[in-house]
Amino acid sequence: MRRNDTRRRDFGRTRRCAAALALAALALLATACGKEGSPPVKGPQPDQLPVYQVDTGFQLPDSPTWRKAKNRGHLVVGVKEDQPYLGEKDPASGLYSGFDIEIARMMSASLGFDPKTIVFRTVASANRETALQNGQIDYYVGTYTINDLRKRQVGFAGPYYIAGQSLLVRAKDTDIDGPQDLDGKKVCSAAGSTPLQRIEREYPKAVAVAYDTYSICVDNLLSLQVDAVTTDDTILMGYAAKVPTELKVVGKPFSKEPYGIGVPRGDNALRFALDDALVAHEKNGDWKKAYDATLGLSGVPAPPPPPVDRYPAG
Ligand code: GLU
Repeated sequence: MRRNDTRRRDFGRTRRCAAALALAALALLATACGKEGSPPVKGPQPDQLPVYQVDTGFQLPDSPTWRKAKNRGHLVVGVKEDQPYLGEKDPASGLYSGFDIEIARMMSASLGFDPKTIVFRTVASANRETALQNGQIDYYVGTYTINDLRKRQVGFAGPYYIAGQSLLVRAKDTDIDGPQDLDGKKVCSAAGSTPLQRIEREYPKAVAVAYDTYSICVDNLLSLQVDAVTTDDTILMGYAAKVPTELKVVGKPFSKEPYGIGVPRGDNALRFALDDALVAHEKNGDWKKAYDATLGLSGVPAPPPPPVDRYPAG
C-alpha cells in the first residue's frame, strides 16, 4: 500500500497488519456512519476541478530536475495518500485527489508536462527530504511546512497556503480544549513533522506518540490508544469530516504552517519557475477553483493565497 515509503519497509509484520486492520476499521466506520444517516462525505468532484493549460513550449534547461523529467517524459511527484481533501488515494482506482494534488497538477502544466502523465509517489513526512535529495521525486506537494531547518536540506517554492497546528479528539471528550490541557495525555503525531517537534519542545508534560502517518494516529484515537492527534488544522478537519459523530477538532490553531512545494536543494531554476507558476495560477483563478473543489469542502471558505516568498538562490 505504501510501497514507496522506505521507512515502512522496516516495519515488523505485526505492526503492518495492525495498521492495515486499523485503517480498515476507519473505512468501515466511515461507511457505517454514512448508513446511519450522517451527511455523506463529500469528495472532490472531477467535473468541478479546473483543467490546467499545458505550456507546451516551456523550457527550463538550467534545471537538472526538469531536464531529467523531460528525458523521462513525465514528472514524478511526492505526495500524501491518507489526508482527506489534501492528498488522498482512492484504494479502488489508485487515483489521487485533493488540494495538494491540484497544486501538483497546476505546476506540472506550467512546466510543460500534461498533468495526466504525473506519477504520484506516496512519501511520509519523515522521508520527504531524503526522497528529494536522492532524486526519487522531482518535487513534493504534501502539507509540507517551510522552515529554516528544512531549507538547509531542500528548497521551497511558495507558500501556497498557511495552515496552523491544532488538536483532534474524540467527540465525547470534554477534557482537552487546547495544548494547555495535554499534561499527562497521550498525543499522537507523525514522525518528522513540525507539530510533533512543537509538542515535544513546548509541551514536555504531554506524552508524545509518533507514527509514520496521521491516519494511524486517528485509528489509535478511535481505539482509545491515544487521547489526541495533533497536526495541521487542514488535515485534522478532513478526518473529523469523515466521522463527525466520533471526532472533533478543538481549540484555536497554535502555530503557523506555511505550505511549500519541496524541490531538490540548489535547483533554483525549478524553484523560481514554480514560484512564477503559483503566482500565475493564483491570478488566473485556478488556485481558488482548485481550493473550492477540494479543501474548501471541509467548510472553510478560500482565504486569499499568501504572498510567494521568492528567497534568494543559495
Ligand atoms: N505541516 C507539517 C509538517 O510539514 C505537518 C503536516 C505533515 O507532516 O505533512 O511537518
